[in-house]
Amino acid sequence: MRILRSSFNPIPLIALLTLAAGLAGAPAAQQPPAGPPPEGQGRGFGGPGRGGRGTPIKPGEECPPGTTEIRPDRCQAPEMPAPSILDYRPHSTLVTSGHPVPKAKFPAIDYHGHPMNLTQSAEGLNTLIAAMDSLNLRLMVSADNASGERLTRTLDVIRNSPHRDRIRVLTGVNLSGVGPGWAEKAIAQLEADLKAGAVGIGEIGKGFGLRSRKADGSRLHLDDPDLDPFWDACARLKIPVFIHTADPAEFFQPIDYHNERWLELALFGDRRYPASEYPPFEELMAERDRLFKKHPKTTFIAAHMGWHANDLARLGKMLDAMPNLYTEVGAVLYDIGRQPRAAHDFFVKYQDRLLFGKDSFQPEEYPYYWRVFETKDDYFDYYRNYHAFWKLYGIDLPDAVLKKLYYQNALRLTPALPQAGWPK
Ligand SMILES: [Zn+2]
Repeated sequence: MRILRSSFNPIPLIALLTLAAGLAGAPAAQQPPAGPPPEGQGRGFGGPGRGGRGTPIKPGEECPPGTTEIRPDRCQAPEMPAPSILDYRPHSTLVTSGHPVPKAKFPAIDYHGHPMNLTQSAEGLNTLIAAMDSLNLRLMVSADNASGERLTRTLDVIRNSPHRDRIRVLTGVNLSGVGPGWAEKAIAQLEADLKAGAVGIGEIGKGFGLRSRKADGSRLHLDDPDLDPFWDACARLKIPVFIHTADPAEFFQPIDYHNERWLELALFGDRRYPASEYPPFEELMAERDRLFKKHPKTTFIAAHMGWHANDLARLGKMLDAMPNLYTEVGAVLYDIGRQPRAAHDFFVKYQDRLLFGKDSFQPEEYPYYWRVFETKDDYFDYYRNYHAFWKLYGIDLPDAVLKKLYYQNALRLTPALPQAGWPK
């Protein structure tokens, strides 16, 4: 395992440094000096005090752009132009047995479904259900934030189809213009939506915190007291609140060559949250945590593992401190699958607090989740290169934990889901 990891680590580093050199205006690769190498700088690298190849740096210093560390405190440029991070696509030479998992081992509930217009027609539903069947996804919870007329239209299509037990729908809440009188109206709409057949609220999107404005024009803080009656109504009505707050912390950081999400941020401009326009990541996290703590009787499900899948100890502390908090695993597989031992232990320890969800509906991507959760495979590809410059590992969850993650926890938190016919 150690060898595998260290063998793939330097690759993106070289490429990144080369890219850095290219973008900083430096030559893509510095050419080695012509002629035979000077005495003591040939094939060997020289021992201490004997000179050696490359450019020396001081301990703790970084190599100059376009070079990489070849021996302690010595940096060198490659002898040929290096590819950019876009073009470097090495084929792994690791030979090991792989166990792809096209279908989940147990029927699963996708709590973070975005079927979008597939729920708007009978044909769309047929397409959706065929894809779900191929994955052993028994139930999709549509988290498309639909309320009022849009919600009832969706529910009608579902009720009039042969697939009525395969989809349930969360309602949305309109968080714009919060101020005096907002809560009463929002609660009335929520009660109407639940009566129409919604099973909970969500997904409350990241706009809440980042962009939503109050009636007076100020930013709507996640823990704004004007919202309190609404969250209390959710507790009274016994429905979970599925909420996505902010985005990965790196999206709020400077987009330099130390940012793990450089490529994604360079590809998608709307994922950048410059400090000049948006509150810092930690401010949003603090507001979110105060919101969860302020309403201990309301069940909150933090989407995307609260963006702390890269810091499981932090997420564990939150779950310890807030018994009303649950979390969902959508779109953070790259963080789960890069720490197979820690993630295994975390999923076992917090097995009653985790829900499966996928986020964007791409049927071909679900099997990566099944493989990470169900196998102990080593070093396999992730489905989106720009998310992660690394491979995934299986975390080998026991069956009892898989069942909780895939369906039991969702059923327990959401009484209005179809409760019959699941494996014990
Ligand atoms: Zn979502």
